[in-house]
Parts: sequence; structure tokens; C-alpha cells
Amino acid sequence: MTQIPRQPNTILIAGAGSCAVAALRPLLATGAHLRVFGPNPAPQITAWAEAGALSHIPRVLTFSDVIGADRLIAATGNTAQDIAAKDIAARAGLDHPTTGHVHFVGAGPGDPDLLTFRAHTLLREAEVILHDRLVPDAILALANPAAKIIETGKTAFGPSWSQGDINALLVAHGANARVVRLKSGDSGIFGRLDEEMDALDAAGIAYTITPGITASVAAAATLKTSLTKRGRNTGLRIITGHDTEGYADHDWRTLAEPGAVAAIYMGKSAATYLRGRLLMHGAEDATPVTIVENASRPDQRILPTTLLSLPDALDAVTGPAVLMLGLAPREAAAFALKEAL
Ligand code: SAH
Repeated sequence: MTQIPRQPNTILIAGAGSCAVAALRPLLATGAHLRVFGPNPAPQITAWAEAGALSHIPRVLTFSDVIGADRLIAATGNTAQDIAAKDIAARAGLDHPTTGHVHFVGAGPGDPDLLTFRAHTLLREAEVILHDRLVPDAILALANPAAKIIETGKTAFGPSWSQGDINALLVAHGANARVVRLKSGDSGIFGRLDEEMDALDAAGIAYTITPGITASVAAAATLKTSLTKRGRNTGLRIITGHDTEGYADHDWRTLAEPGAVAAIYMGKSAATYLRGRLLMHGAEDATPVTIVENASRPDQRILPTTLLSLPDALDAVTGPAVLMLGLAPREAAAFALKEAL
């Protein structure tokens, strides 16, 4: 009988360029032996190899490299070469899929009643739950009592996790467990969903997405207002006060138009800047803005104000808040209508 050389817990990466760097990042913390194949390595690959985080073999992967390894990731950055690498893996019997699965689940704005039925089921079936800081205990209490629950907000790696740490953890658990990645509101709205999907794709881990009620949709319901209304606004903007570069830039002219409606997330510290931009582009001082803090939670607060007074009104706000530009609570609107008659 021929002896098959074993390479336990070994992941092979075909390619040593920027695609391989992206694929490797989440794998570095998993403890797997990483063998990277390809000439002309990216500087980061060389640096990792020198630091002992992986071994780099400066040539194209061949059939004999693959035998006995656990997994191969094709990350050459070239479709034909990726297909060739996957072909080698398949011939060596390496194409067994990972057994784990990640469900990205939107937890809604906080009230457990606003979870979807599917979110509830997935929480009950989860083996591992990785959740954001904004997901309240009342929702975690619905999870499988045997599940390992990890908050990706503080603990573990220090006061705040880097996205790379979260990706690595997701990949490490997602490889062989039923993982729920629980994010507040909807995962696809300011939730860094793409970074996490990229990490799972690179590691060959399957995932699904369950939508959730986003904060602004819950806030509008609380205000008894609609987000679009015939004759007022034909569209809704969902914007952030901040992006990776600092205060986010937007199409201020359109946002400043009468009747424009925007839901501003993460807008507290950018409020003075937002006000300045909107007024400069012609918005009225009296444009209604309603701050909804802790939407749908027991400590929810509704603070109706105007664009001019927005920064001052935010002084009192300590919890997560969404700023509803162009919207007043229905009661206030009805009152103003009566006054005008
Ligand atoms: N994915 C989330 C948004 C995450 S970004 C969603 O779809 O709702 C975090 C921002 O969301 C906060 O700064 C705040 O602006 C908003 N937010 C989240 N939960 C909220 C809540 N319960 N009430 C008000 N705003 C909330």
C-alpha cells in the first residue's frame, strides 16, 4: 500500500499576490499551517513568511503538493489559473466542502418582537453566536442555551475588535459549526457585511443572509410617519454621518431640497457638519428633524427638532440614535396642520 503523506490542518493557497493576501488575512489566526504557492509574492506574503506565519513556496502549485492537505484555496487573481488549481485539488480528492455554515442574521432594532421568525429559529439552532454590541440581552436570551455566545464589541482582543479579528473568528468557527452572525437592524446596512462575506468566500465557507428591520424603518413606525409619501418625497436616502475617511460626503443639494427625507445613521458627532452643509445648500432652518434614540427599546426617546437646533438637541442623547431628516412625528404634523387652518 502506498503511504499517503499527511499534512494535518494544512491549508494550501494557490497564488501569492494581492488576492492571496486577502484570502490569508482571516486564516492567520486560525492556527492552520498555511502553505502559499506562487512566484513574485506580494511584500505582505514575504513579511508573513519571514515572521513564520506561513511558508511560501516561490513556484506554481503542482499535484504532488496537494496530496494529504486539508483544503486548497484558489487565490491567484486569474480565473484560468484558479480553475487549474481547483482542478488539481479535485483530482487529489481535496474538494470536500467545509461542514460549517454561517447565517448572517439581522436582529432588528432591539425589541425581540421585531425579530423575524426565521431569525428566532436560527438563534435557537445556533452552536456559536457572534453578536454586535447593539444586540440587547433580551434577544440573546432567546438563543440556544448551549450556544457559545461571543460579543464582538469589547472583550477578547481588547476594548474594540478590529474587523480582521472578527473575520478570523468567523472563519475559525464557521469552518465546522452552525454560526449565527447577529448584527443589529439589517446586516446589509452599515454592517460591514461585505468584509465578512469576503473572508468566508476566501475560506470556502457557505453562508446565508436573513434580513432584519433596520433602525430607520422602526423609527418611522414609532413616529407614525411613512418614509415615502406622494407629493412629498419620491425617494428615501439612508446615509451615514461618518465613513472610513471621517465625515461622509453626500449629495447635499438633493438632501437640502424641500420635502427630502433621509435617515441618518451614526450622525451624532457629525451633526454640526451636516447642518452646515445642508444650510449652505439651501435647506430651511426650520426643516424638521426627529431624533429617535433607542428605537423600539424600553428606553426609546423621540426628540423632534429642527435642522437649526439639531446639534443642541443631540446634547441630551447618549444611546444609539437615528436622525430622521425631513420627518416630524405625525402628531406634530397634524398639530401644525390645524394651526395653519
Ligand atoms: N445595521 C444597523 C445599523 C448599524 S450602524 C441597522 O440596520 O439598523 C449603528 C447605527 O445604527 C447607530 O449609530 C444608530 O445610528 C443606528 N441604530 C442602531 N440601532 C438603533 C436603535 N435601536 N435606535 C436608533 N438608532 C439605532
